[in-house]
Amino acid sequence: MSSVAIIGAGMSGLAAAHILQDAGYAVTLFEQKHNPGGRATTHKRDGFIFDPGAQYIKQGAPDSVSFITDRFSIPDLIDIARPVWIFDGSGHIQEGDPILNAEPKWNYRHGLCMLAKRMGEGLDIRFETHIAHVQQTHIGWNLYAYQLIRSFEYLIIAIPAPAASALIQASHFTHDIRSQICTQLDTARYNPLISVALGYRPRPTSRPYYALVNTDRQHPISWLAWEHEKAPERAPADTGLLIAQMAPSYSIEHWDTPDADLIPGVVERVRTLIDEELPYPFFTDVQRWPYALPSDKADADKLNALTLAHGLAFCGDAFVGGRVHLAIEHGILVAGQFIGQHARS
Ligand SMILES: Cc1cc2nc3c(=O)[nH]c(=O)nc-3n(C[C@H](O)[C@H](O)[C@H](O)COP(=O)(O)OP(=O)(O)OC[C@H]3O[C@@H](n4cnc5c(N)ncnc54)[C@H](O)[C@@H]3O)c2cc1C
Repeated sequence: MSSVAIIGAGMSGLAAAHILQDAGYAVTLFEQKHNPGGRATTHKRDGFIFDPGAQYIKQGAPDSVSFITDRFSIPDLIDIARPVWIFDGSGHIQEGDPILNAEPKWNYRHGLCMLAKRMGEGLDIRFETHIAHVQQTHIGWNLYAYQLIRSFEYLIIAIPAPAASALIQASHFTHDIRSQICTQLDTARYNPLISVALGYRPRPTSRPYYALVNTDRQHPISWLAWEHEKAPERAPADTGLLIAQMAPSYSIEHWDTPDADLIPGVVERVRTLIDEELPYPFFTDVQRWPYALPSDKADADKLNALTLAHGLAFCGDAFVGGRVHLAIEHGILVAGQFIGQHARS
């Protein structure tokens, strides 16, 4: 069996792992966190179950749809019924696009993490292992955390492009491809994002929508979701949870602001936007995403054309756009290209 290491057990790395494992490769994933899923994650705190990163999964191409509805389907899967409405920089709220709102908005009763959990079953994942650099040898790849972890014949890197670029910069190659790899990776750009969860008692007033999105990018809030609308399990009956995702400019400006100083400003902006007299939230949670969503993509075809012959490939949302279904589809695609390349060589 040929051995493949995958750095990153986000949705793209998990999808690639299954395709390679199906094809008979011995796959090991390395994940710096203690659970799989990356930005498609869930927090469980104080009786709340909430998704601080990706909010739901759109219906994509048949490859990702069949993963969600068939191969990794679980009874927990839900389609968020209420629509998403829109608002502008002045806070004016109006109905969203009926065509977009007719599409499924998939999630899971117990959190978006349920998909990654299900996809992680049957895979060899080494958690809490941050890969600091790799070394190309004449027979494959050595992976290093603080020290050498293991050698593999092949390597797939499934992490955000800026993190991949830093890893490659710190790595050693037998062939002079490092600067060319970094040039390709560095064309991707990510926006940072601060996500703030606000728990209220009593529950905020029910609305005709589940979430609001800012369409002109002129508001400090880019997304506001009534998280308890996803499923009854998401919040105790007498409470409600709002998730405010702050705009990139606001997030950059407040990146180093301590949570205690950040939260009151977010609470006030939420109250003003929805024009509702809410009590001060009794629960808060702040998540900072340095690489939230790519604003500019890198070209995976160019990059992998350079690296595949060396038994190295890259996948993830940096190449296709910041969506869970796109990350899954890219993992599937790159794993297929990888298998094709090594069948030929
Ligand atoms: C706030 C926010 C809201 C979003 N909203 C939506 C949405 O509503 N719908 C949607 O479809 N998408 C949404 N997205 C985007 C979506 O979450 C991502 O596009 C997708 O999850 C990316 O998957 P990935 O596998 O490419 O990368 P990631 O999820 O980033 O996975 C990479 C994994 O690699 C690990 N890792 C990184 N470096 C190393 C290392 N050196 N060693 C070991 N492990 C490492 C990370 O811990 C992570 O688990 C949102 C994202 C954010 C942050």
